[in-house]
Amino acid sequence: MNACDLLISAPWMLPVAPQNIVLENHALAVRGSHIEALGPAAELQAQYQAQHTIHLPHHILMPGLINAHGHAAMSLLRGAGEDEPLEVWLNDTIWPMEARLMNADYVRLGTELAIAEMIRSGTTTFSDMYFYPEVVGQTCVDNGIRVQLAFPLIEFVNPWSKNVADALHKGLELFHHYRHENLVNVALGPHAAYSLSEHDMEHIGMYANELDIMVQIHLHETAAEVANAVAQTGQSWIYRLHEVGLLGPQLQAVHMTQISDAELSLIADSGTHVVHCPTSNLKLASGYCPVDKLHNADVNVAIGTDGAASNNRLDMFSEARLAALLAKHENANAAAGTAPNTVRMATLDGAKALGINDVTGSLEAGKAADFISINTQTLGLMPLYNPFATVVHGDAGQAVDNVFVNGQALLREGELTQLSLSDLTQRVQNWHAQNSA
Ligand SMILES: [Zn+2]
Repeated sequence: MNACDLLISAPWMLPVAPQNIVLENHALAVRGSHIEALGPAAELQAQYQAQHTIHLPHHILMPGLINAHGHAAMSLLRGAGEDEPLEVWLNDTIWPMEARLMNADYVRLGTELAIAEMIRSGTTTFSDMYFYPEVVGQTCVDNGIRVQLAFPLIEFVNPWSKNVADALHKGLELFHHYRHENLVNVALGPHAAYSLSEHDMEHIGMYANELDIMVQIHLHETAAEVANAVAQTGQSWIYRLHEVGLLGPQLQAVHMTQISDAELSLIADSGTHVVHCPTSNLKLASGYCPVDKLHNADVNVAIGTDGAASNNRLDMFSEARLAALLAKHENANAAAGTAPNTVRMATLDGAKALGINDVTGSLEAGKAADFISINTQTLGLMPLYNPFATVVHGDAGQAVDNVFVNGQALLREGELTQLSLSDLTQRVQNWHAQNSA
């Protein structure tokens, strides 16, 4: 008999790799932070002596979801500036509110709120682009969730950084600080091409290539952004990024609602990843990313919720569903945006975009034990014909009842293990009462 810490089994398992497979009556053996083995439940029970055994009687086991783009602390701005167009929403509502409210305490509380929501709805890794990334990183380590900190590079003065050089200095310190922390990856987070100078873009391109560090940027979010770039520089930002050496497998281009055929070739040939944030784009009437077209050109596409200020949810299952619906709408083809492909986008393709697909994103022996269970005997899901369809089109986000990251339970039988929900609710209400006047 081999020893393991946990043996967990369920009637259905979606390992994601290999693709499109549903395993029945399988189990995972977890040892420390890793998946030690995966196989038929009866076989693993005969092979392993487990410290803990969990049999989930009517559940789906699958990898935790990967939210590839967001601004976690903006959960505290949820519902502010509703029904405003992007420019007005940013310039007249969000940026003034952030200028007034921004400090380390706000970031910590907002991040905790976002983490609680994400864990409850099955997210085990998220990417964050926000001020005070060192506070976000510590909050993630404290709560045991995996994160990519895309530290913000933006030209205007903010409470975290005086200018881009200052932000780079602070962010690169963070990069070195978290070098050996398994849960945290640090990436460059240039806010957008239009909010950085030519000089800064060149500098960022240089660091990205020298340090071999991931880069996440908001790119081609709206038609106006592209039109302004063409008016100012004679070409779209994609060409500018190409010139400074930023297009490539280390780049995560967020939004991409506008893309010409020539730009598509540049993105595809360079191996640039795209992050699709469908709710945020539709809510701000920015259009949507042509995922089916990108997939046909072999571009890797991940999914993100964006911040709660523009979503307002952080539920990756509802985001994945919208991605599937839009892919069908894109070509008026119900056979596009299949449920298995959508599950892969929300898990392994997200990990690939963040450069951590050797660590997480699928259930495979040797990978981190980042997995979730979904109770299929929940209203909005039952009865079950096809587990892939159930998780994409059923109301799976509210049926998640167990979440593990690195082998540690962050949600057990529907209860958060690291955060007290009543205490968090009280702190959010207190913050809101003090700051909404
Ligand atoms: Zn964003």
